[in-house]
Amino acid sequence: MTTAIGVVVTEHITAGRLEGQRLTGKPLRYPNDPVELDALASIPASELVEMIAEHVDALAGIHTSGADAVGVAVPGIVRGGVVEDSPNLPQLKGSRMAGELTKSLQARNIKAPVHLANDADAIAAGVAATHGQLNKLTRVWTLGNGIGYGRWPYVDGVWEGGHISVSLDPKERYCGCGGLGHLEGIMGYRAMRLRFLDMEPEEIFAHAKKGDERCRDFVDLWHRALAAATASFIHLAGPGRFYFTGHNVGFLDLGLLRSHLESMVRMSPLQSFSLEILPPDDETALIGAGVAALRALAT
Ligand SMILES: [Zn+2]
Repeated sequence: MTTAIGVVVTEHITAGRLEGQRLTGKPLRYPNDPVELDALASIPASELVEMIAEHVDALAGIHTSGADAVGVAVPGIVRGGVVEDSPNLPQLKGSRMAGELTKSLQARNIKAPVHLANDADAIAAGVAATHGQLNKLTRVWTLGNGIGYGRWPYVDGVWEGGHISVSLDPKERYCGCGGLGHLEGIMGYRAMRLRFLDMEPEEIFAHAKKGDERCRDFVDLWHRALAAATASFIHLAGPGRFYFTGHNVGFLDLGLLRSHLESMVRMSPLQSFSLEILPPDDETALIGAGVAALRALAT
């Protein structure tokens, strides 16, 4: 049976061991304290690589069979084993992480190849694997501070779906990247706080339910923006399955999203899309990181 170690680096590190495509045992986590946010933001890239290697070693070392592949998922633009940009872990920008980690693992006598993936792509791979649909196009939106777009199967490209332009209004300037009219500038948690200086995003959505007009208009814009970006991907790659997850997926009203989407996608061959909410968890991305690494071995 093929084994892989999956590692996900976001606000924290989680690592798990896969046999076949199933997680075995309890994943490791750093830091252990779940309330400690941004624990990784101040750690230099080289130290992060060493920490990842220690986690892999702990999971591979206890088994005589070691591991066939190591998959690591990180946020940002990830291509060819290099983190080209990572706004939420800026110290990783330019890091040749796959190469560095391979070296660090070899020093620990672990020779498994390292495969680096974007974290949203890893979630898409994990969803496809756990739903038994690795042969189908699977797309995932992750709703948090940033807006991530992931797809499986992997195809080379940038795929920064959160930065797709959904507005021509020059006042739409809240995206963390500085670009105007971006999806993340409307939907991202940080962007919502910048727009509503007097209210937290949770309050905006609660007030909208009670009928507050300004909040209701914004919640409608939030859903229309996601519908516009999703419609664009349907018009480019076709209908199919879209999943929604992440810290802020609780804000999402699928009925409202669907009604906006139906007004934007009018060609009948494109209307057979499905929309599904997934509760956020670390395990899906872990499985996806491992599965993507095993698939990369086979190609
Ligand atoms: Zn942007």
